[in-house]
Amino acid sequence: MISKILVSACLMGHAVRYDGRAKPLLHPAIDRWREEGRLVTICPEMSAGMAVPRPPAEISDGATGEDVLAGTAQVMEISGGDVTDGFRQAAENALALAKETGCRYALLIDGSPSCGSGFIYDGTFSGSRHPGDGVTAALLKRAGIEVYSDREIDQLVERIAAAGDVFKRGS
Ligand code: SF4
Repeated sequence: MISKILVSACLMGHAVRYDGRAKPLLHPAIDRWREEGRLVTICPEMSAGMAVPRPPAEISDGATGEDVLAGTAQVMEISGGDVTDGFRQAAENALALAKETGCRYALLIDGSPSCGSGFIYDGTFSGSRHPGDGVTAALLKRAGIEVYSDREIDQLVERIAAAGDVFKRGS
């Protein structure tokens, strides 16, 4: 059986981001993986009932998704609303879907307080960012799922090829 990839819905062209927009990832691997039935698409935040559009939110005080999972940090809207519970639920929904569908990998858009895996924003809503995972990315990693950011898609292509699966770059 081919290895499946959990993928951020906004990367697949769904207009589900907080600002009501998508951020489609254009790469030949995406079309191939789609044809192979390898992609499992989810917007974790929408799965937890969040609206589109919705207020921007960031993990507070320079903390990370791991801190949120540990109960030592919150996810806050720009208006000051505490949306931590929704973001935890979003992460749990994503993990449940990954397990149900047998995803070994995840390809998630960077920077999001849910899906970010290379960097996230620092909670000041000033555009300042720092290394760290969003809440969903952190929970998936905890569960042993290999998480790649959109900037790392070539690494995921190589990883899948190295694992003996069918898609190789340029094929
Ligand atoms: Fe995209 Fe993830 Fe944010 Fe949904 S939760 S809009 S999939 S980054």
